[in-house]
Amino acid sequence: MTAKITNDNIIGGNIIDGKAFSQGLGERIARAIPAFTAATGRRPGLAVVLVGSDPASEVYVRSKGKMARQLGMESFEHVLPESASQEELLALVAQLNADESVDGILVQLPLPGHLDSLPVIEAIDPAKDVDGLHPISAGLLASGLPGLVSCTPLGCLMLLEAQLGSLSGLDAIVVGRSILVGKPMAQLLLSRNATVTIAHSRTRDLAAKVAQADIVVAAVGSAEMIKGDWIKPGATVIDVGTSRIVRDGRKVLVGDVDFAVAKERAGAITPVPGGVGPMTIMTLMHNALLAAHRRAGLPDPDLR
Ligand code: NAP
Repeated sequence: MTAKITNDNIIGGNIIDGKAFSQGLGERIARAIPAFTAATGRRPGLAVVLVGSDPASEVYVRSKGKMARQLGMESFEHVLPESASQEELLALVAQLNADESVDGILVQLPLPGHLDSLPVIEAIDPAKDVDGLHPISAGLLASGLPGLVSCTPLGCLMLLEAQLGSLSGLDAIVVGRSILVGKPMAQLLLSRNATVTIAHSRTRDLAAKVAQADIVVAAVGSAEMIKGDWIKPGATVIDVGTSRIVRDGRKVLVGDVDFAVAKERAGAITPVPGGVGPMTIMTLMHNALLAAHRRAGLPDPDLR
């Protein structure tokens, strides 16, 4: 896992500014790269693989490559046609696994319907698994061993620690149990000695469980389903969810939490957009830097 990150002046009122925090993290990542290059003679390398031409995925892939270059990393962008076969994709992953200049491999999900993502994720060398989705990465996290952690929950943890300092003994609820967000989030909170409840679609009386929590992480994908008056006064709320809804005739992006009411009760809360979202790309860069150091046998960089 990463060093604990602290950052001053990131909080405006009780709104957690994920954009400002991610910029600060980016600056610290960029500052760490020359020392890596001095030690290894090369820059950290991030490979991003896109299959097909889904417009949203194209934007994500382009912005990841651009960010990697901006920070001083090597970016390798691979685009396969929509018609690519499972074998072609696996062959590309094998090629990237073998390429010494590649420290991190990210296969942009979702894949086109005819492709099976799990074998592709499992084919990635866990040392290069910057998305943290490989079962070995999940197992290392659950075992409390160093590995690469899924970017979104890692970003949530950084925001929580910047806000609260120690999480030890705090009651946390994670709403959602996906492999991408909910499960690794719960493991990260547990690793910081929070007492963790994991809620999901079969959870009974969610309102009462949320009302007991000092930390609420919402990762459902259901617009404003966590009501503001469920939030314990003073609690810290991290809203991962993103849903597009029409409000007052306009399309808007909202989270899983009823922000307008929750912000009056929460000690601190992430907005949507501008909270968790901007962190996810920067924690990917963080993971690429970490993977590069570990692969080179160097100690983890100090990004505080
Ligand atoms: P997912 O795989 O669809 O998982 C959603 C989880 O929510 C499931 O565990 C599901 O429970 C649970 N759930 C559904 N209805 C519920 C209910 N009524 N009460 C309690 N739990 C309920 O989604 P995901 O990939 O984890 O993503 C969650 C959200 O985060 C989405 O909006 C996604 O777009 C967003 N996201 C944002 C970022 C970012 O960078 N901002 C990154 C990743 C994801 P079951 O397991 O019982 O079905």
